[in-house]
Amino acid sequence: MKKLLMIAAFGTFMFAGVTGEGHHADHWSYSGNMGPQHWGDIDPKFRMCALGVNQSPIDMDRFVDAKLPKLKITYAGIAKEVVYNGHTIKVTTLGKNEVVIDGKPFMLMQFHFHTPSENKIAGKQFPMEAHFVHKSKDGEYLVIALMFKEGRKNSALQKVLNDLSTEVGKKRMLREMFNPGDFFPRKLDYYRYDGSFTTPPCTEGVRWIVLKNPVEASKEQIAMMHEIMHDNSRPVQPLKARVILK
Ligand SMILES: [Zn+2]
Repeated sequence: MKKLLMIAAFGTFMFAGVTGEGHHADHWSYSGNMGPQHWGDIDPKFRMCALGVNQSPIDMDRFVDAKLPKLKITYAGIAKEVVYNGHTIKVTTLGKNEVVIDGKPFMLMQFHFHTPSENKIAGKQFPMEAHFVHKSKDGEYLVIALMFKEGRKNSALQKVLNDLSTEVGKKRMLREMFNPGDFFPRKLDYYRYDGSFTTPPCTEGVRWIVLKNPVEASKEQIAMMHEIMHDNSRPVQPLKARVILK
């Protein structure tokens, strides 16, 4: 445990150095003094982590039947560059990768991974979850969450792993660029709820789409992701007044 913590702290420091961002603002982790229970106290900017009432992730167990429209993902761009930033393995994207929700277009900026999953579906936690982070022109956020279960090797994930450096902050271009939509299952049935970023500053007002169908990745691939990121899942947050649309 102690060793893990030291690696996490060192990683954060390296990242801050590489990007020129302030050490203080980036100084949080998934365990110990800087762990999720303390995020709200680390920096005034992080106060929503403690005070928010629509926080993510959640255990989705209070459903309301809604006639959710078919999800239309029109990704025409590429996954471009991968980095382990000390918190997650993140892939930045390029081009017109768009989703329209509530009549509003959202553009994909990046996707990243959590081991194990952050959101739970009726109490079930998956070994890995990917978050596809989108932003609208007026600055609103939409996250599409995709669960992974153990099974066959995932070819899109392999293209990420092939060029991934374990050195914190070391960006690498993907030699095999691919359409980020290659990750998605054929059936795009989904749950929907209102939540937040699952990392500081825990900003609320985020539209969450959680795909009902997981995709597969091999045990070895998931183990490789976990070996680099360790446990990087925020515990589930209270549902409060929210319901999950299905
Ligand atoms: Zn995430």
